[in-house]
Amino acid sequence: MPSQHAPAKALIIGAGIAGPAAALFLKRAGICAEIFESRPGPETIGGGMTIAPNGMRVLEHLELDRRLGALGASMENICFRDQDGHIIAHYENARPGQFDQPAIALPRAAVHQALLERTAQAEIPLHFGKRLIDVVRQSNGVIAVFDDGTEVHGDYLIGADGVHSRVRRAIFPDIDPIYTGRLAVGGFVEEATGGSNDDARQINLTLGANGSFGYCSGDAGGRRWMWWSTARQVQEPSRSDLAAIPQTDLVAALCKRHAGWHPPIARFITATPEITKVPIYAVPKLPGWWRDRIVLIGDSAHAMPPQAGQGASVALEDAMYLAAMLQRCRGDHIQAFAAYEQGRRERVEKIAEHARKSAERQTGRIAFWFMKQLLKIILPIVGSRSQQWMYDYRIEWSTPDRPECTTGRQAIDRATHQA
Ligand SMILES: Cc1cc2nc3c(=O)[nH]c(=O)nc-3n(C[C@H](O)[C@H](O)[C@H](O)COP(=O)(O)OP(=O)(O)OC[C@H]3O[C@@H](n4cnc5c(N)ncnc54)[C@H](O)[C@@H]3O)c2cc1C
Repeated sequence: MPSQHAPAKALIIGAGIAGPAAALFLKRAGICAEIFESRPGPETIGGGMTIAPNGMRVLEHLELDRRLGALGASMENICFRDQDGHIIAHYENARPGQFDQPAIALPRAAVHQALLERTAQAEIPLHFGKRLIDVVRQSNGVIAVFDDGTEVHGDYLIGADGVHSRVRRAIFPDIDPIYTGRLAVGGFVEEATGGSNDDARQINLTLGANGSFGYCSGDAGGRRWMWWSTARQVQEPSRSDLAAIPQTDLVAALCKRHAGWHPPIARFITATPEITKVPIYAVPKLPGWWRDRIVLIGDSAHAMPPQAGQGASVALEDAMYLAAMLQRCRGDHIQAFAAYEQGRRERVEKIAEHARKSAERQTGRIAFWFMKQLLKIILPIVGSRSQQWMYDYRIEWSTPDRPECTTGRQAIDRATHQA
């Protein structure tokens, strides 16, 4: 444990969403952090994403909610349709005033840019081009080893390096993320090819027997739309397989998959300049989220299918909660890591289960017909409620909503036995 006089130094691996957020909250807790990112520079491309009210609430603590709220389109409702365009269910998602923060949709790059700018303003060191290849645990600290041959020493290390986490492998070498058998594709299109005014204020999800198609407004100004399509792809594609697919072949395959589906689906597919392709992985339940001086946050601990629209929001929650525990435990990282896992795990696993079930809404033709009838009955009744428990979550910075450090005792015992 670091002495009370020398400020602790945290090494953070990954400058996606959880990493920069954790560094900012740690700084508030009086803990120095340094971030290491494998990419050569800030992310400038990528698809769109939604941030839920619970994620926006964390961004509010970083004073980024207004900036991102002004850039993003507010997602007030959710509308499920069948492939002919008939509405299966339509319910409230986050109407104005329902929560203290909206649900928004915006380009992923805008979220990265906002977090990185805030990190730079806070003078938190961030090093690009640093791919972690190993972590050496010592009695008085931890050493991060990078692929350029450099090493950095810290008091503890936070793995925010995403679904294929190298940090996770350092503590659980036998646990790999699971390919879910689904491939997500998507992109942005300009206003002229867009959907209706109602569609612009909602998440539009069309379900079919052989996949699903989602779209929504992609920015506050209504200048563009974002869309995504998910379908089964049994064979796990490699990065090079995906890169080798020509855009024209992808467009043709998507037009075939969604042939006859209601407007504006075909227009969106054909008008998109660059379609992104991402295989979907999930991290199985881990035996723990920390070991000794290493702790996992965000996707490295619990990547889940994107269907719940919660991955980024729970990654932000993790970052804030962990820092709150480190602050409360006055730098005793063992107590803090245990309290963090104990306070977060149940909620995150419940959300991951919700995401997994939502992802399974794609089935065969007959099963799909039955599912559609079921959704028609169930969604209008439970749809809003199924979101509310996820959205209504607060972390108080000065008095976190659940654990005192001492409540982590059980988790400490468990982790110490398993280490
Ligand atoms: C197709 C798709 C759509 C999604 N849509 C949504 C959505 O709409 N809303 C939502 O909330 N969530 C969505 N998600 C999930 C969301 O993207 C993730 O949950 C979120 O990005 C997790 O943040 P993170 O910081 O934990 O990981 P990441 O954002 O993945 O960041 C990890 C960072 O670590 C870096 N890194 C990796 N390995 C190393 C290494 N060895 N050394 C150094 N750096 C490393 C990476 O380059 C990356 O910058 C979606 C996911 C997918 C796949």
